[in-house]
Amino acid sequence: MFPSDSVLRFAPSPNGELHLGHAYSALLNRGMARAIGGKFLLRHEDIDTARCTPAYERQVEEDLAFLGVDWDERPRRQSEHMHDYAAALEALAAEDLVYPAFMSRGEIKAHVERFEEEEGRPWPRDPDGAPLYPGLDRHASTKERERRMSEGARFAWRLDVERAIEMIPALTWDEHGASPIGESGTIVARPLEWGDVVLGRMDIPTSYHLSVVVDDAIQGVTDVVRGRDLFYATSVQRLLQALLGLPQPRYHHHELILGTDGRKLSKSARDTSLRSLREAGMTAEDVRRMVGLPGRPADPSETALRSRGS
Ligand code: GLU
Repeated sequence: MFPSDSVLRFAPSPNGELHLGHAYSALLNRGMARAIGGKFLLRHEDIDTARCTPAYERQVEEDLAFLGVDWDERPRRQSEHMHDYAAALEALAAEDLVYPAFMSRGEIKAHVERFEEEEGRPWPRDPDGAPLYPGLDRHASTKERERRMSEGARFAWRLDVERAIEMIPALTWDEHGASPIGESGTIVARPLEWGDVVLGRMDIPTSYHLSVVVDDAIQGVTDVVRGRDLFYATSVQRLLQALLGLPQPRYHHHELILGTDGRKLSKSARDTSLRSLREAGMTAEDVRRMVGLPGRPADPSETALRSRGS
């Protein structure tokens, strides 16, 4: 299905323990890469330096070793590449595509509540359910922005998504997996659904979306294989790739491993963490079976991704 010069990656954030869902994603990525003779890379997405720790990073590598997942090249650690993200943010700023957004979380909440009360209808929300940024300061003058900054007001750099889609009106991506509602093939990106997303903060010149697209391009990633929970985020990431002139990978969103309660697993749920399973005496083969993969590592049949129960 994919050419042998494919580059795949597993990109967890070392801010907690990996669970069965991560195991599934890492095993799929590595299995697909090995089956086609492509590369498999590991990336530590640790821009959130307050929550990511070297201890969790070590544990990620130990968990992968336990699973028999090996990777090519030295893992890329995002916190070591802030200048790459800052350069991308500056390129967007030079096109007037980002603006300093001063509304705090509390101000956004108050604005949304006031609107909903007065208008009697819900304020628009993004695919994750968070209210869209009201953007009251989207068109503030340079003078006004400078005044607020000089007063020490806190802000985040947000994408002016309406301006961005004027520049890049039509965008699609090539989906080899399936969306949460089963679509695959050519998918139309809908970045407006996310509003003016945060692309950088005062102390960190980046965000998840920005660093992911910059890194996928720098690392030559051709195939993004990741959980369906990130399907909708692809719209924003495709827009950033187009604005920054970055190549477009193929996407393959895989099903999620759910807990017994039917909910997405979380890093705080210790019972499904790979460490606790390992400590309880489970083997890598047991974990493979638990996530529905064939017991024998590197079985090429795992490249034929099945869609279980969805
Ligand atoms: N770091 C992201 C996460 O842990 C994954 C990024 C991606 O695969 O695009 O959810």
